[in-house]
Amino acid sequence: MADLAFQRCIDPSCRATVDLADTSFQCPRCGGLLDVAYDWDRLPVPKSLAHFETKWANRSDPLDFSGVWRFRELFPFAPDPTIVTIGEGQTLCQRADAVAAYCGMNPGQVYLQYEGMNPSGSFKDNGMTAAFTHARMTGARRAACASTGNTSASLAVYCAAGGGDPPLRAVIFIGSGKISYGKLSQALEHGALTVQIAGDFDDALRQVQDVSRRLGIYLVNSVNPFRLEGQKTIMLRVLEALRWRVPDWVVVPGGNLGNVSSFGKAFIELQDLGLIDRPPRLAVVNAAGANTFHQLHGRHGLRWNGGAVDRPRLSAFMTAMDAAGGRADTLASAIEINRPVNLPKALRALERCGGVVCEATDGEILDAKAKVGAGGLGCEPASAASVAGLLKLVKEGVISKDETVACVLTGHVLKDPDATVAYHAADPAVFEAKLGKRGVRRASFANRAVQVPNDLAEIVKAIELYA
Ligand SMILES: *Cc1c(COP(=O)(O)O)cnc(C)c1O
Ligand SMILES: [Zn+2]
Repeated sequence: MADLAFQRCIDPSCRATVDLADTSFQCPRCGGLLDVAYDWDRLPVPKSLAHFETKWANRSDPLDFSGVWRFRELFPFAPDPTIVTIGEGQTLCQRADAVAAYCGMNPGQVYLQYEGMNPSGSFKDNGMTAAFTHARMTGARRAACASTGNTSASLAVYCAAGGGDPPLRAVIFIGSGKISYGKLSQALEHGALTVQIAGDFDDALRQVQDVSRRLGIYLVNSVNPFRLEGQKTIMLRVLEALRWRVPDWVVVPGGNLGNVSSFGKAFIELQDLGLIDRPPRLAVVNAAGANTFHQLHGRHGLRWNGGAVDRPRLSAFMTAMDAAGGRADTLASAIEINRPVNLPKALRALERCGGVVCEATDGEILDAKAKVGAGGLGCEPASAASVAGLLKLVKEGVISKDETVACVLTGHVLKDPDATVAYHAADPAVFEAKLGKRGVRRASFANRAVQVPNDLAEIVKAIELYA
């Protein structure tokens, strides 16, 4: 299959190609990012997306059961017997009228794509199953990542459950103090070698790249283009849930910008293959405390520009940020990233799909999260950035109330229970210690625990009063 799938530099003026089995994930000619590319003319491409519905009848085959691999004709880099699946991608696209009302949208216009249902509790499994499969194809013995938490949780789960003889060993780099306990507990529980570095995520990312190169460890960070191939299926499942109708907008939180890059690539390919008429527009939501992409796209007007990204401007921005000691700082730890590695791919996605970028404060994110939770889908703070961003974009008139919008909820509420408990805290001191001192003014939708004496009559009275 080697000649039908390969890796290719994303820069149209370079276009260097790299063997499918190469694991450096960097263009040998210009140092840029790589795509996984396909010779579609020689591959069997389905005539319509409805083709994928037939897979539901074949669920006893694990590859057709997987919500990722049942779409494998749209990312055909792995022969079937090499594919590693643990049942990822069984997720939900739910119509959410209460969230629509909160955002100022009409009923029936807002859908939540809930990726918390994945085996490790976040969307990362969509990509990890693909990267893990590629790691196996290349004969890797160890796989590593730097992570704000969910990538490491996902890698740990795949190494533990993915089988193989010998199994792949997970090596995880985390910054000190910044990872939520839900995620750290997964890495430890599933047996990953966990290396805690005295630094933040950006430091951990730099180190893991150097260490992996030196030791020949397979790298599964967002720079890995195979992960993005698996993540394309999040959008395929949205389309499927909407009966193959393309929504007007897809709203997604932006951290390392892997998702938006992957979604953009998916829609560009679907359009080029004649499987959709038009792509949806893409909206990326940064946390206000980690808003590099918003600043560059919004304030500095940085664009893909057909591949001619203004690199001097980009590096001047990064240099100035470092000189000013700029550190990402948000309660939405999964998007607490100042140097998004997929930035050029994200610019490409926005250009091709007509996208926008905005940002939301931690307070706005936590309020949106509580609204999502009140509707029955529990998500972690970073995930709710999509809903907080939708609210803003509706207010600004960018998105109109009768358009159809899919917001991606990237991770499960139990990933970061601290943030949730602090938000709903009855004790103002708890709120202040966790959220107030980080700039969150109030919890508009707090559901406070009711304090009652240990007495039947008082308990009955309290319940009658409140419920
Ligand atoms: C990784 C992650 C993100 C950020 O996604 P990118 O693809 O890096 O932009 C957002 N939310 C959650 C829960 C994540 O785990
Ligand atoms: Zn190149």
